[in-house]
Order: sequence, then C-alpha cells, then structure tokens
Amino acid sequence: MDMMDVVKKVRNASTVIIRDYSSYCKWRCNNGGAYSFSVRFKRRLDGKWIISYGTSSEFPYCYRYGEFKDCWDCEHFDIETEECRVKPEVISTREAIEEVRQVLNDEFVEIEIDGETVKYGEYGCEQCRKGLH
Ligand SMILES: [Zn+2]
Ligand SMILES: [Zn+2]
Repeated sequence: MDMMDVVKKVRNASTVIIRDYSSYCKWRCNNGGAYSFSVRFKRRLDGKWIISYGTSSEFPYCYRYGEFKDCWDCEHFDIETEECRVKPEVISTREAIEEVRQVLNDEFVEIEIDGETVKYGEYGCEQCRKGLH
C-alpha cells in the first residue's frame, strides 16, 4: 500500500487501528509478557478522531491511558456504566494520516482500516516467525 492509498483510505474511514507486534509472541501474548499493543482512532460526528488503546494482554489495562492500570481502582471509573471517564485524546484527520504514515514501513506493525487489514505485521518473537514453537 502506498502513501496515496493510505491518505485516501483514512479520509474515508471511520475506524483505524494500528497494532504493534514488535514484542509479541503467540504463546506469551495473554499473560506471558510478550504482548501486542494497539491504538484505535474512531471518527466522531465532528470529523475529529477519538483515541483508545488496547493490548493482547489479559491484565487490567486502561483504554484511555494506554497503561496497565485497573480502571476499577481508578477515580475516573464510572461504576454504573462500567466505563472509564478519562477524557479521550482527540486528533484531526491530518494527524491520523500522519500516525499511519509513520508506521507504514514498520515490519512489526499491522494497520487495519474499517475492518480490513491493509498491512500485516510480523511477530517480534523470532521463534514464532521461524515457526519453531
Ligand atoms: Zn513466539
Ligand atoms: Zn481507565
């Protein structure tokens, strides 16, 4: 995928996800310390994009802070709606395009646009890559 495609796709998209597999191992991705991390941009009605974070790890992780942190213990957690009320980071379409552009040639990064994987990322674990385990 070249830069022009990226620009066009992101301009028309409603969700963009960037996943970093540089420390990922398919056998240690849940609780073994070799996780993937993701950043999701979701377009709002006003055209700006809300950022949320994720990981393959099963440990408590705040999707607003992008940190291992138990939202249930957080003062910003709304117990009724079970949502983190930390104000999300917001970026413009230009910034979203720039974020995607920066990882376009990163072999460990996967890019998903509106559910379509437009670029695949290699796993950081060498044994996974070589099919050794
Ligand atoms: Zn592995
Ligand atoms: Zn939180």
